[in-house]
Amino acid sequence: MKNRKLKTSAKLLLFILLILLVIIVFLLFKKDDKKDTKKTNNNEQTENNNKKEKPSEPVKPKNKYEDGKYYLEKNLERYENYDNANPGLCRDEVIKRVNSGLDKTWYVDVEPTDLSKGNLVIVNKLHYVDQNFEPDNLVSMSGYGNGYLVKDAHDAYVELYNAAKADGMNLIITTSYRNYGFQSTLYYNYVNRDGQESADTYSARPGYSEHHTGLAVDLSTPSLTNAFTEFIYTDEYKWMQNNCYKYGFIQRYTDENQYITGYQPEAWHYRYVGKDVAKYIYENNITYEEYYAYFVEK
Ligand SMILES: [Zn+2]
Repeated sequence: MKNRKLKTSAKLLLFILLILLVIIVFLLFKKDDKKDTKKTNNNEQTENNNKKEKPSEPVKPKNKYEDGKYYLEKNLERYENYDNANPGLCRDEVIKRVNSGLDKTWYVDVEPTDLSKGNLVIVNKLHYVDQNFEPDNLVSMSGYGNGYLVKDAHDAYVELYNAAKADGMNLIITTSYRNYGFQSTLYYNYVNRDGQESADTYSARPGYSEHHTGLAVDLSTPSLTNAFTEFIYTDEYKWMQNNCYKYGFIQRYTDENQYITGYQPEAWHYRYVGKDVAKYIYENNITYEEYYAYFVEK
C-alpha cells in the first residue's frame, strides 16, 4: 500500500515537472519573439530617420543644350549668351558655333595654340603660333613638290600620293610648310592688292596660318595654270574628296564651313590630322574647329 502511494506521488511529481518544463520553454520562445520584433521596429525607425535626415535631392532641371551631341558643360553660359544674341538658331547650331568660337572676335580674342597637341594642334583666326615657331621634324617633300611637312604628314602624304597615282591621278604640292616671314610676305601682298578685309577671307595673317605648322599642303596637278581657280574642276580634286580621309587628310576650308573658318572655300588646301580623326570628321561632316573643341581641347 505504502509502495503504491509512493509510485503515485512520483508519477505526479514527474507530471508537474513536465508541465513546468513546457511552460519554461514556451516563455523562453515568447521572449525571443519579442526581441526580434523590437529589433525590426528599431530598424524601420532608423530607416525612417535616415529618410528624414537626407531628403531625396530634387531632380536638377535639364538645360536645353544638354542633349546636344557636342554639348560641353563649360560652354553653357556662352551657349545661352549666343542664343540670346542670335535668336532662331536650333540647339545644335548654337553648340556648333560656340564650340567653334564664333562668339569671339577673330584676330582679337586670340590665344597661343597649345603645341602639346602635336599633330592635332589648331591654328585659325583665334589660335596662333609664335613668330619664331618652327616644327622640329620637318621632312623635305622633294619628289612630290615644294617644301616640307612634319614627318607623320610626310609619310601619310607619300601613301596618299601613291594610292592616287595608282588610280591615274597626278598630284603635285605647290606649297607646304611656310614660316612667319613667308606668310607675312604673301599676306601683305594680298592686303596691298585687295585691302585687309578682303585679304582676310582668303589668306591667313602671319602666325595664324595652318601652313606654319607643317601639317598643311596646297595641291595642284601639273597641267593647271592656276590651281586656285582650276583645281576644283579636276579628277584629282574629286579623288581627294572621296579618298583623302583614308590617308589622314581633310579638306580644311569648304563652301559649307566658310562661316565657321572665316575662309573662302579652298579646294586645294588639305590638313593632316591622322587617319582616325580624318575618318571621324569625314563621316560626321564637321569642321576641325568642332572636332578640336570636343575631342582634343576637352
Ligand atoms: Zn593652303
